[in-house]
Amino acid sequence: MQKPQFEIVIVGGGLAGGLAALALAARGFSCAVIDAGDPGKMRSQGFDGRTTAISYASARVFKRLGLWDPIAPHAEAIRDILVTDGRAKSRFDEGTISSFHLHFDSRELNDETPLGWIVENRILRNVLMDAIDQSQDIEFIAPARRASTEFNAGSAITKLQDGRAIESSLVLAADGRFSGLRAEAKIKTNQWRYPQSGIVATVAHERPHMGVAQEFFLPAGPFAILPMTENRSSLVWTEREDAVAAYMALDDDAFRTEIENRFGSYLGAIEPAGPRWSYPLAFTLAQSYIAPRLALIGDAAHAIHPIAGQGYNLGVKDIAALADVLVESRDVGLDIGSLTVLQNYQRWRRFDSASLALGTDLLNRLFSNNFAPLRIARDLGMGAVNAVPPLRKFFMRQAGADLGTLPSLMAADN
Ligand SMILES: Cc1cc2nc3c(=O)[nH]c(=O)nc-3n(C[C@H](O)[C@H](O)[C@H](O)COP(=O)(O)OP(=O)(O)OC[C@H]3O[C@@H](n4cnc5c(N)ncnc54)[C@H](O)[C@@H]3O)c2cc1C
Repeated sequence: MQKPQFEIVIVGGGLAGGLAALALAARGFSCAVIDAGDPGKMRSQGFDGRTTAISYASARVFKRLGLWDPIAPHAEAIRDILVTDGRAKSRFDEGTISSFHLHFDSRELNDETPLGWIVENRILRNVLMDAIDQSQDIEFIAPARRASTEFNAGSAITKLQDGRAIESSLVLAADGRFSGLRAEAKIKTNQWRYPQSGIVATVAHERPHMGVAQEFFLPAGPFAILPMTENRSSLVWTEREDAVAAYMALDDDAFRTEIENRFGSYLGAIEPAGPRWSYPLAFTLAQSYIAPRLALIGDAAHAIHPIAGQGYNLGVKDIAALADVLVESRDVGLDIGSLTVLQNYQRWRRFDSASLALGTDLLNRLFSNNFAPLRIARDLGMGAVNAVPPLRKFFMRQAGADLGTLPSLMAADN
């Protein structure tokens, strides 16, 4: 039989698909990445206003693939995370916060490693796309929309809307939370919309943030202040969906006042820096991550609430685990698209990501309300965790994605 054109076709060249191509090419697999987007637009400032909290275990993957050097100058280290049940009372209250809080201090983990880094998605995307452009083993096909895929005994044929057909041994669905590949493979999902959207904006402030990430749990949802380079912070302001359009339509002065009311004054005067975006929030968990010649990665497998900044980190772990599984299988001569091989990926990743996904859902339900008995229970819980160092360390390792069986690209150096 003739060899397929590529060993792996990746549908979706977003943050998950792009990283998957680079991780797999580094392990010697020939890859094609297909994306419906225009590469020029995908690289532009206006394409994605979000930042991503890259956990320290995910950062190891970028480092091992030689991608961290161009990211590092734009990455702000998270030294502390302060989680507070309630808000900074007002801009005049010198950082007054509820007495119920949790403090995660990276120095408690006994090394110099921060809890993670905040990086603009624009930077991550450009670094991935530059590396893909330079790779001999990756063909980036964009703009090109996948129309259909045939899964056959010996290979899969991915057809594009422009009539091209690409043959491969394995197809990766990295086509996001509305994954067409997942639907076509008849993989069911558990999914629901949150009655919330995430308003994302950047603010410049008078005082340095000292690498402290803050999360205020307000009745409409979490309000996160994430430290960025150049004395800026990124806001992820979760708000009731029915109120978001009105906030998005405010003029700059009124928008700043709304931010100040939630932000408080602990960083001095603040000024919105750049446009605002809003993202509807939803939960999607695929009931299977695999089908013959198909594996789901990133948001195609699990799209979760941003409350804990873990969505992309889960995707990075998928990619690193899949790379190990495929290398081991290839080395013993197995077909990388076979279900036997892909089941190893599913066993490794599905339980781990499903538990984290459901944990973030629970956290959001527990905290996004003003129901008095729940407030008491969660405040007692926060107090207990804050008082017990091993528990604090456990949560820090969880946030750093440094628990469980880590794939070789993610494991700590010995
Ligand atoms: C407000 C907010 C804040 C967040 N903050 C964090 C954080 O701090 N830390 C963290 O870890 N995660 C965070 N996340 C989650 C993170 O942004 C996502 O998990 C991540 O962007 C998903 O990337 P992806 O590549 O899987 O999917 P996507 O970014 O959706 O990419 C899918 C790609 O597939 C392409 N595509 C789709 N269909 C086709 C087709 N038919 N043919 C060709 N191409 C196709 C699309 O063009 C797109 O480029 C946040 C999410 C939100 C909403």
